[in-house]
Amino acid sequence: MKILAIGRNYTNHIKELGNAIPEEPVIFMKPDTALLKNNEPFYFPEFSSEIHYEAELILKIGKEGKHIAEKFASNYIEGIGIGIDFTARDLQGKLKEKGLPWVLAKGFNGAAPVSGFKKSADFPDFKNIHFSLTKNAKTMQKGNSAHMIYSFEEIIAYISKFITLKKGDILFTGTPEGVGSINIGDKLEGFLEGEKMLEVAIK
Ligand code: MG
Repeated sequence: MKILAIGRNYTNHIKELGNAIPEEPVIFMKPDTALLKNNEPFYFPEFSSEIHYEAELILKIGKEGKHIAEKFASNYIEGIGIGIDFTARDLQGKLKEKGLPWVLAKGFNGAAPVSGFKKSADFPDFKNIHFSLTKNAKTMQKGNSAHMIYSFEEIIAYISKFITLKKGDILFTGTPEGVGSINIGDKLEGFLEGEKMLEVAIK
């Protein structure tokens, strides 16, 4: 399986990092070794002193497809969950300055904690899904898919023009404002429509 992600998909998050609103979706990948499942802990890596959480709605792809038309894209979404796009912000800053790829800043071991998935059929409106993230029981991020620049369907249509999506692939759909640092000893919890779906202890 592969993990694909879109960056800069919520206007207020783009502003907080001082980035420009993209003219095309900004797509990157994480290797499968970045996955953390079943509330496994995250071990703070030695190569960074600034790891940021980015809470995101995640999509599980249910069948293979390429060149997927936007109007059919929802048929490819099997499940919806919440994930964290951990980012080594210090490393990413250096790479961005030089115009280099983000792979190491976004793809390190444990950089993709994911919850379980709820059936996509249980969501009546993909453009109105609430999610949030707490750090040590304090709410840090609150998001709604209504505020995404590119919708689930637009992301799937765009990516599948270039890369075939396969059953079991996971898409990270971007983070709203409120990203911030983690430290050893912190506990992050992710909520989808008010239900706790994910917990990550930082060790
Ligand atoms: Mg992100």
